[in-house]
Amino acid sequence: MRIIVQKFGGTSVASPEVRQLVVKKINRAKEQGYAPVVVVSAMGRKGESYATDTLIEVARTANKNIAARELDQIMYCGEMISAVVMAGTLQANGLDAVMLTGGQAGIMTDTNFNNARIMKIDSAHIIRLLKQGKTPVVCGFQGMSAEGELTTLGRGGSDTTASALGGALNAELIEIYTDVDGIMTADPRIVSNAKILDCISYSEVCQLAHQGAKVIHPRAVEIAMQKSIPLVVKSTFSDAPGTLITNINKGDTGGTAVSDRIATGVTYLANIAQIKIATNNASDASFKAFKTMAESGISVDLINVNPGQIMFTISEDVADRATDKLLQLGFKVDTVYDCAKVSVVGGGMREVPGVMANFVEALSKNNIQILQTVDSHTSISVLVKKADMHKSVTALHEKFSLSN
Ligand code: ADP
Ligand code: ASP
Ligand code: MG
Repeated sequence: MRIIVQKFGGTSVASPEVRQLVVKKINRAKEQGYAPVVVVSAMGRKGESYATDTLIEVARTANKNIAARELDQIMYCGEMISAVVMAGTLQANGLDAVMLTGGQAGIMTDTNFNNARIMKIDSAHIIRLLKQGKTPVVCGFQGMSAEGELTTLGRGGSDTTASALGGALNAELIEIYTDVDGIMTADPRIVSNAKILDCISYSEVCQLAHQGAKVIHPRAVEIAMQKSIPLVVKSTFSDAPGTLITNINKGDTGGTAVSDRIATGVTYLANIAQIKIATNNASDASFKAFKTMAESGISVDLINVNPGQIMFTISEDVADRATDKLLQLGFKVDTVYDCAKVSVVGGGMREVPGVMANFVEALSKNNIQILQTVDSHTSISVLVKKADMHKSVTALHEKFSLSN
């Protein structure tokens, strides 16, 4: 049996008209000899009735600090509604579709509510359905713990469901259907002349996703990479071939982002706060500060430790809590709100002189203040004020000639 996993994101299942396009994609896969396993996200985006953001809002209206477990129970409903509607649509079009929750599809997770990790997948039920010629329609984003608790896999986690099922079923291909024609050199909502990438390595797309390109969940890429199953990101709304994610880029060693492109894409992460601590004993202060952050479950990024100052960034929603903890330790803390991280990712930038100079030139020419920078072999990131975020992405995209 040649299994294909086809995942359809929120906008791809949002209306009856679009769901007919989904039926066509599934029928085409069947005509090509595949046995499709369909995965769906909750219908629509923020503001729409059954979207995940809407469900979160409903729960938070009752209690803005509602427990993670209870939040998972309401988030679970979005994919349930979507999968029932999609299975019904397929049945109306002559397919023998069977709706499955994450648990019914055998996806077992830990109980880290809101961000559960898949521990194992029992694929027997899906295999049985496929052998009977049925088309499973699985709720993305969901799992079940050994104790029977319902969990979710982290925002954007339907991609993870698709990859994990692909891995467990030894699928030939995993298709991620969305509202853009593939992975692009930047978010097209910000850069209108962003270009589609025909092909990209797992490791490079992982970097892009970790640095904010939310077109695919980084965990989904990691899982597909472990089993070397090709992933294709493509549009439900067109017949464009999409972006193939695989190992084929020249010189790809699998571990790091590798291609011969100096710059592959520009990404951004908003809602970041910068913490600055003045100190005359940076080693001792950084030990205490980072230990406190770790004990409070706060992850830190963009770390700079200098003799007179420690700087790092955290997510803005935990900034007040982090500042309080640091003040309690007696530190002099300056918290800068409304920041954003903008990154250029490219496997070919290692050991190429002048990349940082170009990066800084693009920003300074546009009067963008740099609050902090950090670089690795395959990326350069900068912290800017959120108000400068779009301008920074556009300037860097242009400077690195990504639309050519
Ligand atoms: P879905 O619901 O289909 O999973 P998402 O909203 O999660 O859709 O992801 C698709 C969106 O990702 C696109 O509409 C686009 O605005 C955004 N995006 C961000 N960065 C990129 C990028 N580099 N390439 C393509 N799309 C991107
Ligand atoms: N519906 C979930 C979310 O909005 C999962 C997904 O769409 O991938 O995060
Ligand atoms: Mg998504």
